[in-house]
Amino acid sequence: MLDIIKLLPDSVANQIAAGEVIQRPASAVKELMENALDAGATQIDLVVKDAGKSMIMVVDNGCGMSETDARMCFERHATSKISKAEDLFAIRTMGFRGEALASIAAIAQVELKTRRKEDEVGVKIVNEGSVVKEQTLVPMQPGTTFTVKNLFFNVPARRNFLKSTQAEMRHVVEEFTRVSLMNPNVGFTLTSDGKEIYHLYPGNLKQRIVGLFGSSYEERLLPVSQEAERVRIDGFIVKAEFAKKTRGEQYFFVNKRFIKHAYLHHAIENAYLEMIPQDSFPGYFLNIEVDPADIDINIHPTKTEVNFLDVKLVYAILHAAVRKAIGQHNLSPMIDFEESADLNNDFSTAIGMSTPLAIPNVPLDPNYNPFSQPSTPRDTCRGDGYRPEHSGSPGDWRLLYGERTDLPSEPNEAVEEKTSPRCMQVNQSYIVTAVKSGLLVIDQHLAHSRILFEKYLKELENHNGASQQELFPQAMTLNMNDASLLKELLPELENLGFKLEQLNPTTFMINGTPSDAAGCDALALLEQILDNYKINRTDLQLDRKLNLAKTMASQLAIKPQTRLTEVEMQNIVDQLFACNVAEVAPSGKKIYVILNMEEYFK
Ligand code: ADP
Ligand code: MG
Repeated sequence: MLDIIKLLPDSVANQIAAGEVIQRPASAVKELMENALDAGATQIDLVVKDAGKSMIMVVDNGCGMSETDARMCFERHATSKISKAEDLFAIRTMGFRGEALASIAAIAQVELKTRRKEDEVGVKIVNEGSVVKEQTLVPMQPGTTFTVKNLFFNVPARRNFLKSTQAEMRHVVEEFTRVSLMNPNVGFTLTSDGKEIYHLYPGNLKQRIVGLFGSSYEERLLPVSQEAERVRIDGFIVKAEFAKKTRGEQYFFVNKRFIKHAYLHHAIENAYLEMIPQDSFPGYFLNIEVDPADIDINIHPTKTEVNFLDVKLVYAILHAAVRKAIGQHNLSPMIDFEESADLNNDFSTAIGMSTPLAIPNVPLDPNYNPFSQPSTPRDTCRGDGYRPEHSGSPGDWRLLYGERTDLPSEPNEAVEEKTSPRCMQVNQSYIVTAVKSGLLVIDQHLAHSRILFEKYLKELENHNGASQQELFPQAMTLNMNDASLLKELLPELENLGFKLEQLNPTTFMINGTPSDAAGCDALALLEQILDNYKINRTDLQLDRKLNLAKTMASQLAIKPQTRLTEVEMQNIVDQLFACNVAEVAPSGKKIYVILNMEEYFK
């Protein structure tokens, strides 16, 4: 019997390898542009025809190659970037495999022109299907130009597999974007079928983002910057209010290498949680700098995956960095309520006047006192409506004017009254009040769910939810699944004010409920909580605390079609604008709108 195993010729091996590295014109664009960056170019020009299907040209002003290197670069595993195994753990260049040019040359007609600064002339090499067809000296500027024609000319199956020119062009633009984004100090142009579609000047990251995505991004970006021991995070996130319906602008890099990382992506999305509408996606342009030894980029030839040594740490830092950026940006726009804040400002003493300024005379309804306590007794069932769970302090209003509320204030009921706008209820569902720019219309249910949500989150963190003893403790029997879920949630439910006692594997005694829920059907409430919790867990993959807070808030918030007293309305407005996020309900819906009367009548 004859031996039948043979080594494949290089050209065939390269063609097979090319299948991995070069899937479409955009893959060649990426490899050529990254090589230009690795060569230290400060200007890189990309020219394509038919989305790169007929031609891709990359011109750079980088270090160039010697004549020998110019021939060598088409060999498989030929690289100047690493030379030994240890180098794999210190990679600072985009390339390192020495596979790209060998792969491209195996499936296309490639012309290389290159010249180093120290050489008088450049060299031109034509390589077709891994065979060198021509080598000549050429006059040229220092740098390198690769021209790739007729990609997949010898792999018809691949060529036929390509998508429409439009679709392939989208991939090309995407690669161009990824490479140019993280190298704002390098100038780039992209010309497609004779038309220049990008001309990016060297600058900073913000200018680069604006250059790529348009001038509207100028005011949409929030800077992110966070340094920890082995990790540094820099870049920009897009303000929550500009979240998009598609995943569009999500750019995440590690040491300037574009990567996809579902887990870390989650860290970012999670930081936005409750601030952007459901089914919208936050935009971001973030780079993580880590010691190359702390990551493994050697996972897949197309290299959009990276393994981190300590991914949990990176997650935490990333989450904190985004959180901080969002926090620093005041998400709730300042709302100027009609009544002037100046009335409350006793600046006469501050400027050294001996007699205080007279309070301007504003006509008042003498019977009106928005801050008198509600007469509703504490233990009333709130099934029929809303019982404010903690009295909104009059001081909360001053938050809207950016004043300090922790300073003791002159007790001056008349002035306090004047600074609080009056509210009106429409359709028993909306609270309407006048603000400088028009009418503020608040959805009472959404507003209250935001207030409760933040309150419950705090209680869950601080383990201090107020509880109300049940006069007649009830037993609750559940199926096995629900019972084990409830058991799992017991500590958190306790923090919210539930007092539950497990009698047997499926039966619990309800001895107490959160005081917000006093008088409600505790059994029905717990069942609803379990149901919602399950839905949120699978649909939104929320963590336990967020999920519980969200579920409780939506269950216990005042319902639409509920009559509110003036005081109750004012408490809601007070507390809403004292929330971290006043704009969006935990469900992702907008809580209020401002109707601009002037515009409306125009
Ligand atoms: P890798 O980038 O992984 O090293 P490539 O096949 O992409 O492998 O390139 C092989 C080698 O060719 C590089 O290591 C580099 O030395 C050289 N080279 C490629 N492109 C350029 C360029 N634009 N300018 C200078 N040298 C280049
Ligand atoms: Mg390369």
